[in-house]
Amino acid sequence: MRCRVDKLPPMVFPLSLMAAEGFEQVAYRYDASTGLRAIVAIHSTVLGPGLGGTRFWPYLNEEEALIDVTRLAKGMTYKHAAAGLHQGGGKAVIIGDPARLRSDELILAYGRFVEELSGRYLTAEDIGTTQADMNLIGTVTSHVTGRSEALGGSGDPSPATALGLVWAMRAVAERLWGEAELADRHVCIAGVGKVGGALADHLHAQGARLTVADVHPAAVAAVVRRTGADVVAPDIAHAVKADLFAPCALGAGLSSITIPELGCKAVVGSANNQLATAQDAQRIHDSGVLYAPDYIVNAGGVINIAEEKVGYDRDRANGQISRIHDTVLEVFDLAESAGITTAAAADRLAEQRLAEGLNLRRESRGPGQ
Ligand code: NAD
Repeated sequence: MRCRVDKLPPMVFPLSLMAAEGFEQVAYRYDASTGLRAIVAIHSTVLGPGLGGTRFWPYLNEEEALIDVTRLAKGMTYKHAAAGLHQGGGKAVIIGDPARLRSDELILAYGRFVEELSGRYLTAEDIGTTQADMNLIGTVTSHVTGRSEALGGSGDPSPATALGLVWAMRAVAERLWGEAELADRHVCIAGVGKVGGALADHLHAQGARLTVADVHPAAVAAVVRRTGADVVAPDIAHAVKADLFAPCALGAGLSSITIPELGCKAVVGSANNQLATAQDAQRIHDSGVLYAPDYIVNAGGVINIAEEKVGYDRDRANGQISRIHDTVLEVFDLAESAGITTAAAADRLAEQRLAEGLNLRRESRGPGQ
């Protein structure tokens, strides 16, 4: 399986492109003794250190890796800003197949690279890296998040992400039906892995009716056993007649093909980059289906990580995650008052917070800076 990389113009002048996109820093590391080839992209530290996971992936070439790491880093800036966190946007990639290349020495060499960035970049787990890797990185740098709770970290972010989705769904229900309760609502979940599975458990406990889909039969069977959910084939999950559709697998699932077929009243899911193209924001708006923007509703994981700064406490973190409810309503209000799509409203909210952060930074530096 290959990672989806957005089609961008050929990067003849990648450094100029980085500048045009407002990146603060892109750092490369090659380490001959371990075979490490890594890139860290720091998009913005206006609101705090650039936080984002380390993706260990067999990219075809360095250009593909650079496109992916920069796109993801910028996305993290927006996600943190919209969530009201004092964290900036960053991301890292290690180029190669983790099954073949991974060694403790390579992970440690990568950790030393993170340490050399002096806290401007904070790393975390992502596709191809594990909590054990974060624990190991933590032996050579303090600029790491998501270590196990026994080591003072916040652990796996997936339960927090699922909890955030429940708060987002409550906000959507309030907006659509004037009632936040999810009991008797029908929710179709596509992808019942770590996030989707935990979401199913929450919704079942709240009395919702579930339909689930996954390409992995064992994942479906486990959720059906726990919740009694109905099952649908993954390729038609989006068309199920339901109150809510929760894409919790891969991105780009909302497209010119699937949007006209949607059977739900609203989309609220954890998958990143759900809209296949920028035009799909308008397309889903015009279809009358309410789209709760992905990076607003899946922010539970990063809100959870932010709690590490003040000494991690799960109950307090869960309290902070409930703020997603208000943020979702704020985005809907902004979309309505400005006559724009909910996706555009999310971006506007994030950009407003970034502009406020920039002003504060200028004021604290004093005149002429
Ligand atoms: P996961 O790998 O545990 O689960 C994904 C599930 O989707 C798997 O069970 C997989 O079999 C299934 N799947 C794959 N292709 C599918 C398809 N076409 N149709 C239906 N099911 C399919 O991943 P996760 O951690 O649960 O994350 C799910 C999504 O949420 C990802 O897009 C991830 O980037 C995003 N996300 C996760 C977190 C988090 O805290 N884990 C935070 C933010 C965003």
